[in-house]
Amino acid sequence: MSKFWSPLVNDLVPYVPGEQPKMANLVKLNTNENPFGPSPKVIEAIQAELNDSLRLYPDPEGESLRQTIAGYHNVNPEQVFLGNGSDEVLAHIFYGLFQHGAPVLFPDVTYSFYPVYCGLYNIEGKTVPLTDTFEINPADYRQPNGGVIFPNPNAPTGRYLGLEHVEAILQANPDRVVVVDEAYIDFGGESAITLVDNYPNLLVSQTLSKARSLAGLRVGFAVGHPDLIEALNRVKNSFNSYPLDRLALAGAKAAYEDEAWFRKCCDGVISERERVTSALESLGFEVLPSKANFIFARHKTQAGEALAKGLREQGIIVRHFNKPRISEFLRITIGTPEQNDALIEGIRAL
Ligand SMILES: *Cc1c(COP(=O)(O)O)cnc(C)c1O
Repeated sequence: MSKFWSPLVNDLVPYVPGEQPKMANLVKLNTNENPFGPSPKVIEAIQAELNDSLRLYPDPEGESLRQTIAGYHNVNPEQVFLGNGSDEVLAHIFYGLFQHGAPVLFPDVTYSFYPVYCGLYNIEGKTVPLTDTFEINPADYRQPNGGVIFPNPNAPTGRYLGLEHVEAILQANPDRVVVVDEAYIDFGGESAITLVDNYPNLLVSQTLSKARSLAGLRVGFAVGHPDLIEALNRVKNSFNSYPLDRLALAGAKAAYEDEAWFRKCCDGVISERERVTSALESLGFEVLPSKANFIFARHKTQAGEALAKGLREQGIIVRHFNKPRISEFLRITIGTPEQNDALIEGIRAL
């Protein structure tokens, strides 16, 4: 606290990102990064962009990348908004589309950035409890609200909600924006982007950080009705006109041009996820069904916090949340086969 702080800053409760330890040789399974690197075509595209043109500002509209993403998802470029990571896109959504004098609804167990944006922009948030099996119940989203947001698959549970249930939430809220945060959609779910032409209240956000192995590049986007995209552009152009630099624009475009690499990485994560799930189940864990690149698991007798600590002592970092309902769970990112073997051995040793 300092006399120079604004009252708002004084009350802020910032998001705490998963730790990025500086030690070498760690088995780092705590922040849902992709264990397989980005496509070599992404590296080439970024290298080709490393030249004198860096003295010039990038395209503020990211026209070329928006066209690529729109083509990939069969929508128009006017339905695509780009941001510096999907976190930035989400921030603009909260500011531009959720201020309607009623609370924004999101699950009680979910991405912990949502309440942070509520605090930053002074928006009331209201948590909606997941069921006993940690599922979203669409009927619970039939109540007055200023907007709805949930990840699909949800984080940190990994549980996926079928599109028919997403539609039920959209139909119950025709006058409010419903945001589906699809950070993990490529690991087995079906994207709601196919629904945007039917629902003017639907906004879908995605990121290149997870399935496309580009967490370090910071590129995310939203797809929805042009009216929603226009709101986001108004916020963006009142904040930072150039959120994506030249390297990010070039690298992200190349990522969409190497479908084979993308599929190979996703398939690799999915098959390892199934292998790790069976191994942990045979070691006495309950593992929630996951369609993400991580699993959420609790042991029948061992405490979550002690397991996380015991793994850390062996150089294996997983995420543990000291929060109601989930304090016995570990969120474990799916790593390379070797990292996953180390995890399974580490747990066996405990
Ligand atoms: C990782 C993640 C994001 C944000 O990713 P960016 O790196 O900012 O694009 C958004 N939502 C959820 C649920 C995530 O797990």
